[in-house]
This record gives sequence, C-alpha cells and structure tokens, in this order.
Amino acid sequence: MTMSLFGPDFPFAYDDWIAHPAGIGALPDTAHGAKVAIIGSGAAGIVAGYELMKLGARPVVFEAGAFGGRLRSHRFEGTDVIAEMGGMRFPVSSRGFWHYADLLGLDSAPFPNPLTPAAGSTVIDLLGQTHYAQTLADLPALYHEVAEAYDAALEQGADFTALKQAIADRDPARIKEIWDPIVRTWDERTFYDFVASSRAFQGLSFRHREVFGQVGFGTGGWDSDFPNSMLEILRVNATECDENQRYIKGGVAQVPHGLWRHAPDRIAHWPKGTTLAALNGGAPRAGVARLRRADNGQIDVTDRWGRCDSFDAVVVTCQSHMLTTAIDTEERLFSHEMWMALDRTRYMQSAKTFVMVDRAFWKDTDPATGRDTLSMTLTDRMTRGTYLFDNGPDRPSVICLSYAWMTDALKVLPLGVEKRVELALSALGQIYPGVDIRGHIVGEPVTISWENEANFLGAFKGALPGHYRYNHLMFGHFMQDTLPQHECGIFLAGDGVSFTPAWVEGAVQTALNATAGVIRHLGGTFHTDNPSPCDRYDAWGPVKLP
Ligand SMILES: Cc1cc2nc3c(=O)[nH]c(=O)nc-3n(C[C@H](O)[C@H](O)[C@H](O)COP(=O)(O)OP(=O)(O)OC[C@H]3O[C@@H](n4cnc5c(N)ncnc54)[C@H](O)[C@@H]3O)c2cc1C
Repeated sequence: MTMSLFGPDFPFAYDDWIAHPAGIGALPDTAHGAKVAIIGSGAAGIVAGYELMKLGARPVVFEAGAFGGRLRSHRFEGTDVIAEMGGMRFPVSSRGFWHYADLLGLDSAPFPNPLTPAAGSTVIDLLGQTHYAQTLADLPALYHEVAEAYDAALEQGADFTALKQAIADRDPARIKEIWDPIVRTWDERTFYDFVASSRAFQGLSFRHREVFGQVGFGTGGWDSDFPNSMLEILRVNATECDENQRYIKGGVAQVPHGLWRHAPDRIAHWPKGTTLAALNGGAPRAGVARLRRADNGQIDVTDRWGRCDSFDAVVVTCQSHMLTTAIDTEERLFSHEMWMALDRTRYMQSAKTFVMVDRAFWKDTDPATGRDTLSMTLTDRMTRGTYLFDNGPDRPSVICLSYAWMTDALKVLPLGVEKRVELALSALGQIYPGVDIRGHIVGEPVTISWENEANFLGAFKGALPGHYRYNHLMFGHFMQDTLPQHECGIFLAGDGVSFTPAWVEGAVQTALNATAGVIRHLGGTFHTDNPSPCDRYDAWGPVKLP
C-alpha cells in the first residue's frame, strides 16, 4: 500500500496537480503582474508565492519574524550543525511537501524515531521502570497488548483497513463512504474517549491506557492529544503521518529558503530565471500591521512601518490569532461565522531544548551491559521525548534533550534555557545513572516555547471536540463563489487552516487551495485535463455537518 495524504476530508491529488506537465492553470494577460500579498514566509506562504509567480502574478511576501516560519533550523554558532526547532520529521506520505524538497534536490534520511532502525536503540522509562529495546519485540507483553489493542480499536471504531485501502487506491467515493460517517460520529468525541470506550481496551487495565498515552504509536507519547477531537488522530493514523518519517539533511529551513531562490523551469510573463527573492527585491517586506478593503475593491496592506500598498489578492498564512492580536484587520473582510472559527482555533503548546555535543558518544557500548550508552528515550519524566542526532564519526552531534507538548511544555514556559537543560539532565540522570552528558556538551544550548513566540502564540492547531464545522469553514474558504464581494480576495492557508495540523503537508495543501482560489479570483483558468481543487471541491469537498 502506498500511502499519501489523499484526503480523507477532501480527497484531492495535490501531488499530481502540481506535477502535471500542463501546469496548474493560467492567468489572463491582464492579470500578469497582479499583486498578491503573501502574509508569512513559512511553508504555506512560500509555496503559494512560488506557484503564483510561475503563472505570472507578482507575489509580495511579508514576514514579521524569522524567514521560514515553523520550518526553523537553528544553526549552532560556528558550525553547520543544526537543531530543528519546529517541524523535524516528515512522513513520506507528505507528497506535496516532498515534491518541493525533491525539486530543490535536498537529501534526506530516516528519522530516529522510537523503536526504529534509525534510532538504533530505544529506552522506555515509565513509572520508574526502564526497558531497553531495539524493536517492539524486545518490550514486555504489556506493550504488545497495548499496540494490539489500539490496532483493534482502529479496526472496530474506524473501519481502518478499508479506509487505508481506499486512501491508497485514491478512491474518493469509497473514502467518503467510510470517512463521512466517522466525521459524524467522532467530531464531538475525544481521542481519550475513543481509546477508553473501545471494546479493545475495555478488558485491559488503566495501566494499559496509561502506557498507550506515554508510548503511543510511531512517534511516541500521545497523551497530550487525548483531549483532541478523535478525527484529528484518525487522519494521522489513516494517512501514515506517524510512520516512515524522514528528516532533511542540513535542515528543513532549506525548503522555504530554497524555493525563495529557485528559478522555475517554466514561468509565464516574467523572464526566465526569475525567483521569488528577485521579485521581492531580495528581501521580504516587514510584518503586516493592518488590512483594509480599499475603495476600488483591492485590499490595502500596511506593514509595521506604515507603508501601505494595494493588492489584487491577499493570502494569509500566519496563525489565525494574529488576525485579532497583531494585525488590525477590518472586520468585514470575514463573516462572523469565520471570525468564530478563526478565534476558536485551538493551538497546542510545544517546547524543545537542544544541546550540541562533541560527538555521538551514545553509540559507545557500555561494557557492563553491552548496551548503547544512551538511547532514544520515551519517559513519563519531564523530558518526555529525547532524540539523538548522529552527524557522523567525530563530528559534533545533537541531543534534543526534551520535546514536550501541552502540560509538559507549560511546565518550562517561564524558565530560561539553562534551567531547562538542568531539569532535563537531572531527569535523564535518573534513567542513565553514571552517564556524563554534561562532559560532552559544546556550544550554547537552545530552546523554544512556541506559545511564547509573538508571531505564533502556539505550536500548531489541535482541534477540540466540536471543531469540525470551524475547520470545514476555514478549509473551504478558498471557494469564494457564494461570498459577498466585501469578503472576496483574501485567502486563508497554512497549518491552522488544514485538516492535518502539526504536519507541514497540511500547510502545503491549503496553500495550494489558496493558490487555486487566487487564480480564479484573478480571472484565471485551469486545464481540463488537470482539474484543480476548485474544480473538484463541489464533488469531493468535506462532508457538511448540519
Ligand atoms: C514544534 C513543532 C514541531 C513540528 N513537527 C512537525 C513534524 O515533525 N513534521 C511535520 O510535517 N510538521 C511538523 N510541524 C508542523 C509544521 O512545522 C507546520 O505545519 C508548518 O511549518 C506550518 O507552515 P505555515 O506556513 O502554515 O505556518 P508558519 O510556518 O507559521 O508561517 C507563518 C508565518 O507568518 C509569519 N507572521 C506572523 N505574523 C505575521 C504578520 N503580522 N505579518 C507577516 N508575517 C507574519 C510568522 O512569523 C511565520 O513565519 C511542527 C511544528 C512545530 C511548531
């Protein structure tokens, strides 16, 4: 089965659409050079900008902070060693994202997730008990019971094998036949409810649920997601976001930076060799401070220095709360229902702390135990997930001491980097007594709490029960035929607008929706043999809840 993020809410082959030899569409001559403001230089903004430039529009990118948004690869001073502060592991099923990474010729490798060959070894430390494993087979029976119970729960609660098969087959009718009733059943129920009420877990102990929450499947602890709508989790499972993940060698920030400087082979209107960077005069504009409808129907975008320009269309990719906190947005640009959706959007918290070390010393075998000195570690202690990045023999390597979400992220929110490192080292000291991590640290540690970043206010969306209607409204906003004129021409895209938040593919796909919307808004057309999201939405768009 070859999996991709083909739906399940809107089963559209974005990867085929952007790779089609005919191109994604065309703008009329009169729309060549049309100015499109792109708010945010993250994955969504840069993908939309790149595709619109290829059609002859003039995307103008505004960025309030670091270029690349949540694809932020921190480079340790004086080295080429990086720490991924945002997105770090990219499922092969994220075909849209890989289309652009491949276009740029970026190299990748399997991500060292728990219990994978790339990690080498994994330590699971729960309730003071430590298990050393290379694969699931090495773990005690309870872990197998948990894994089997979740597989069974998925089968019983979500017709899982059939759903995955339909996604692999790219069969929209069959996907909808299975998925739409699931939406009705599970929108208002949590992940925890799904697990606890499942027949598969009923005969098992509370401890099983606890272990499931700490270890979960694929990438590790999922109890932070227990309050989320189950739909969100099912999408991750069904499209294999949580499996077969790779990292980008040299840092994922190369994707937005690379596209910014990439001259497409085929480009309308602009001279061959044109890049987004060149069209933007080499630098993005400052952060957006104000959005207003101009008298002539265009949209006025004012940056934080007071410079105001009019645009034919605007693509908003920043987190939706920016529209109420940082940007003075004219209320009439969105309906009240849309404001409700934008404001109710719930962002999750996430904190990461990294240190650079002199070498991948964890691969040294402990003569007493025959085990690696240190392993990828999942624990109920405050570090939660510790990941090890081997940069090759005798090269500085990296330890993500802690990658945590929600409550575990909030615990460290007011703390500085040194205190965070101390706490993490102390927790790891309990699991690996006698291992001297400190003695290997070089350079300056680095940490982030995404909820503390003024341009983000959170890490990524995590929809709560009852949020499907909001998601639906935001996701479908690129279809503007029935909107009143004063709401047209501004398009939403990005992680928080997607049905698969916390995965960059959602940002890419919603950027492509917005791109299609802008093409239509500017009077453009799509090729009959390469239908766009606009062409397919009425037939295969997300199920409407009453
Ligand atoms: C901790 C963390 C871990 C993650 N892990 C993964 C992973 O392993 N795999 C995966 O696939 N995905 C992961 N993701 C998700 C992925 O990083 C995002 O989906 C993706 O990067 C979002 O892109 P975007 O363009 O939607 O938003 P962003 O990257 O947030 O871009 C929006 C941009 O808007 C800018 N902005 C804000 N306000 C303004 C303003 N007023 N004017 C102008 N610009 C403004 C911001 O500075 C930002 O650059 C992770 C995210 C986080 C935070």
